[in-house]
Amino acid sequence: MKVLITGAGQDSSLTAYLHLVRGDQVYVLTRRRADGLAEQMRKVIEVLNESPVFIYADLTEYENVFDIVRELKPDMVYHYGAMSFVPYSYNNPIYTAQVNELSAYAILEAVRKHSPEAKVFLPASSEVFGKPVEYPQRLSTPLAPVSPYAISKVALLYIADYYRKVWKLKVYDFITFNHESELRGEEFVTMKIVKNLVKKGHVVLGNIEARKDWGYAGEYVKIFNRVMEKEEPKRYILCTGVIASVKDFLRYVISKVGGTYEIDESLYRPVDAEGMTCDVTEVPVKPQYMWWDVADIMIRYVRDGALTFTEVLGKV
Ligand code: GDP
Repeated sequence: MKVLITGAGQDSSLTAYLHLVRGDQVYVLTRRRADGLAEQMRKVIEVLNESPVFIYADLTEYENVFDIVRELKPDMVYHYGAMSFVPYSYNNPIYTAQVNELSAYAILEAVRKHSPEAKVFLPASSEVFGKPVEYPQRLSTPLAPVSPYAISKVALLYIADYYRKVWKLKVYDFITFNHESELRGEEFVTMKIVKNLVKKGHVVLGNIEARKDWGYAGEYVKIFNRVMEKEEPKRYILCTGVIASVKDFLRYVISKVGGTYEIDESLYRPVDAEGMTCDVTEVPVKPQYMWWDVADIMIRYVRDGALTFTEVLGKV
């Protein structure tokens, strides 16, 4: 099977691992960076001693992206590539729309014309619920985005609907709640907390009252894949159903590794999407790893280099 993955961050790297372990042909479309591959992808290659094929292109070079899909004719596409950092989107709304939204058109147009049997995964985000109007959120909860990032993810939901309904493409869009792992970048609050506390004993944070639903990304990419292989193309929602504040996460990590923290209000967001968790009766597969397990996994990795995704996604 030929698998095309866009992006080279956490979910892309974990998905590349999952398919390489199974012996699939894996192509990763990512930008060429002056400092080389993202750390996450380097880790996967190191563990497997095998590399996906890299195709270097910027997602905003839409024609190139279209041509790549046309030539490759993949069986499965995971379009994770995105500008995924919410605070950055406030000052860069146009760029956020260009990367996150328009690239999806380039990919789906190419699939429609040249590879219509391909299964396509589009990741939306719990951010589409913004300040949620109901709790917990469901597939039927009104969309209320409060950042350009969230707006781009709302667009993905409609783009998915459009290609499924009008062109009968096999598009799977997932409204996914926060999911973290040992491969999480430090710009996200969970890894920021764990890395700073383990390495420096101190961390400076913004709004720690925000409540989120953190699952384990290793488990989530396995669920994405399982649903794409076994279930019908439609919109899905995925969370653990357990909510915690940044403060809960922080206190748990402090109880394990020690350390102190301070608040810097300049790190607050203009509006924080919070109170996020979904109705677990609607998830396609119930996750087993809860936020405290995720914290343990991250601590083990930062402290001892221990990997968990290799256990969850299958050994080499
Ligand atoms: P997001 O939910 O995808 O934006 O993931 P983040 O990990 O970036 O943020 C999770 C929550 O932590 C948000 O509600 C932030 O406002 C909150 N938060 C508090 N302090 C920080 C911080 O120092 N960095 C980040 N990234 N988030 C913080």
